Amino acid sequence: MKIVHHALLPSTPGAQFELVSLHFGTPGTGPKAALQAALHADEIPALLVAHHLRERLAELEAAGRIVGEIVLVPAANPIGLSQRLLQAPQGRFETGSGENFNRHYADLAADAAARIGEPLSGEAADNVARVRVALRAAAAALPARSALQSLRKTLLGLAIDADIVLDLHCDNDALLHLYTATPVWPQVEPLARLLGARAVLLAAESGDHPFDEACSMVWPALAERLGAGPARPLPPSCIAVTVELRGENDVDHALAARDAQALIDYLVTCGVIAGTPPALPPALCEATPLAGCMPVIAPRGGVLAWRRHPGDRLAAGDAVADLIDPFSGELSVLASPVDGLFFARECRRFAIAGMSVGKVAGAQALRQGKLLSA
Ligand SMILES: [Zn+2]
Repeated sequence: MKIVHHALLPSTPGAQFELVSLHFGTPGTGPKAALQAALHADEIPALLVAHHLRERLAELEAAGRIVGEIVLVPAANPIGLSQRLLQAPQGRFETGSGENFNRHYADLAADAAARIGEPLSGEAADNVARVRVALRAAAAALPARSALQSLRKTLLGLAIDADIVLDLHCDNDALLHLYTATPVWPQVEPLARLLGARAVLLAAESGDHPFDEACSMVWPALAERLGAGPARPLPPSCIAVTVELRGENDVDHALAARDAQALIDYLVTCGVIAGTPPALPPALCEATPLAGCMPVIAPRGGVLAWRRHPGDRLAAGDAVADLIDPFSGELSVLASPVDGLFFARECRRFAIAGMSVGKVAGAQALRQGKLLSA
């Protein structure tokens, strides 16, 4: 295991953060996988899974089983990890700018296309290799004028040339679920089965360029820009997934060890780790559109007393929670907006007006525009 320290641009003199990446195997000898944990900083289940992965990958490397290269960023957001406001962790948004740490990753398609220059050849493998060189150069040329930009640039640089990108997060109180781009879903399906995912949310473009889409969707964008086709093939060559490792309090060695094993089994399936691919367990869900993932909104503030739990199947109109005004005693019922799986809810038990307090995965694409929560 090689450990690399990446100094981030300090926001102010003396405020120096660094990112650490762990490198297993040998670059260029096979496929590359890039994994990162807790881009939203205080999503601790991801940090624990990364800890288990670090140990397991070191063992696999010692046994000579890493075929290509695996990069693991065990804590992807040192800036967010340091942020606290009145004792509460603040890992989702950079407090200076208010920007979500998992948005606004650079679209490298235009820059990479310009760097490729010569037309694509008739050999897919040659074209993929040329695109990877161009993507690395484009990521290296990104500006880093703030600490946040410097973090985004460093993370993208570590993952942009990978065949597989696994971005490990968690939700508030939730079942294990995945977000991925619709075109890569067939390649992600084994991962969903190995992890026992209970929901998979698909979008071609979810809005504001989260990390996984910056890595995977640059390939179809480049294919279009470079005029790829049967004579000049450029297959999509990055499978990128946002893995939501249940809820923020699901920090448990047994769960983390199981999740780490599932991720390793997926890397075996993809040929990054040598071994016999495991038999795939049955799928626990069908993929549904991210545009069909409907929020349960609190119309006003109040005590949130849940009637239903993540994992419950709901019909539109089913009561999900009571919202109680502690001043008047008035009770109103929050109902499921659609038929679907209730898969995530708030940890806090007091809602404010307009707050999204739960998510129901429905089969119909009902929303448009930016599809991810803030
Ligand atoms: Zn997250």
